[in-house]
Amino acid sequence: MIPRTVFSEEHEQFRDTVRKFLEKEAAPFHSQWEKDGQVDRALWTKAGEMGFLCPQAPEAYGGLEVDFGYNAIVDEEIARAGLTGIGWALHSDIAVPYIANYGSEEQKQKYLPKCISGEIVTAIAMTEPGAGSDLQGLRTTAIKKDDHYLLNGSKTFITNGQHADLVIVVAKTNPEAGAAGTSLLLVEADSPGFKKGTNLEKIGMKAQDTSELFFDDVKVPAENLLGAEGQGFVYLMQELPQERLSVALGAVANAEAALGWTLDYVRERKAFGRAIAGFQNTQFKLAEMDAELTAMRVFVDRCLELHCDKKLDVATAAKAKLLTTDFQCKLLDECVQLHGGFGYMWEYPIARAWADARVQRIYAGTNEIMKLIISRELLKE
Ligand SMILES: Cc1cc2nc3c(=O)[nH]c(=O)nc-3n(C[C@H](O)[C@H](O)[C@H](O)COP(=O)(O)OP(=O)(O)OC[C@H]3O[C@@H](n4cnc5c(N)ncnc54)[C@H](O)[C@@H]3O)c2cc1C
Repeated sequence: MIPRTVFSEEHEQFRDTVRKFLEKEAAPFHSQWEKDGQVDRALWTKAGEMGFLCPQAPEAYGGLEVDFGYNAIVDEEIARAGLTGIGWALHSDIAVPYIANYGSEEQKQKYLPKCISGEIVTAIAMTEPGAGSDLQGLRTTAIKKDDHYLLNGSKTFITNGQHADLVIVVAKTNPEAGAAGTSLLLVEADSPGFKKGTNLEKIGMKAQDTSELFFDDVKVPAENLLGAEGQGFVYLMQELPQERLSVALGAVANAEAALGWTLDYVRERKAFGRAIAGFQNTQFKLAEMDAELTAMRVFVDRCLELHCDKKLDVATAAKAKLLTTDFQCKLLDECVQLHGGFGYMWEYPIARAWADARVQRIYAGTNEIMKLIISRELLKE
């Protein structure tokens, strides 16, 4: 592998701490959490104590105020260990940055310290039963009445949906104005009229709580509007590159781990009197995977460097998400094949990784939407 240059010695010390923490506090329990459909809530506060949540957040609110490389390390270590139930990336890389970047001083003081400590788990609710890729088709409304917004509608597939204490809801504050009438609201989970649906049963990421959310005349105080009214889409467009980079980082780290598990397996497993690593087909498959993995790693590290310099553009982030997640799924499929029947058994990490990875091509904008973004940039005058 080409040596990675994106991380400093401090980053690597942080990685070591994260890795040891996950080995002790998460890996031994993850199978049980898969059965429970969610991780133990105490894991969040333990991670908060360690400084693993929202490392970028300003020191003034209790954060470490470090670069996104620290978030990347947490994402990579979770992906490397296949601990896909842990929704910290959604919290630290996706939801909380909206509060940090667009929140009022009062909102930051009220919410950020508890997001950093793990006392508050966040979610972001964009998708609805009738609108996912086409967010302009959202039907959830938040109509201003005196000192509050009256929120009505429903959301689905919301990560951290069961644990969430605070949800950033994307809603139409002016339903006639299309994209320009869309806003973000901070909705506390104990607000009257806000109900969480059941924990959805998925084909992978079984320890990740993913839910429907229902809003029935929820009175959201006017001061819980995030940023300016009508700017919801602008904020989403600004924040989505970080979300997509986060997915890409996880994809490459998970693919690297899967190749490692497969190397161990093919050395051990015997067929026709020799290790299956001795077959040319196995060697060629491994070589192809490793060559592509090297290219993905270098590209994503460069994207990470660009992002830390605030120079990662929307189309490049879309390319990273598209290439790495397509590749992750292809690699995992080849690795399952090399494991034979054992590769289909849930107790094998490769089987779980294969099932867990499938959604990577769907969420954070489907890979078809990534192609739209890239081609729009290519064809623009
Ligand atoms: C496990 C999981 C976790 C999730 N977490 C969250 C979350 O935390 N918050 C949240 O808001 N959402 C979340 N989602 C929702 C996810 O972002 C959406 O599922 C995704 O954006 C796709 O939307 P959709 O399901 O409505 O599919 P659709 O938009 O209906 O798409 C169906 C198919 O049509 C294709 N398609 C749609 N439009 C076009 C087009 N213009 N050109 C070409 N092809 C097109 C799509 O690529 C896809 O293949 C999650 C989903 C899952 C499964």
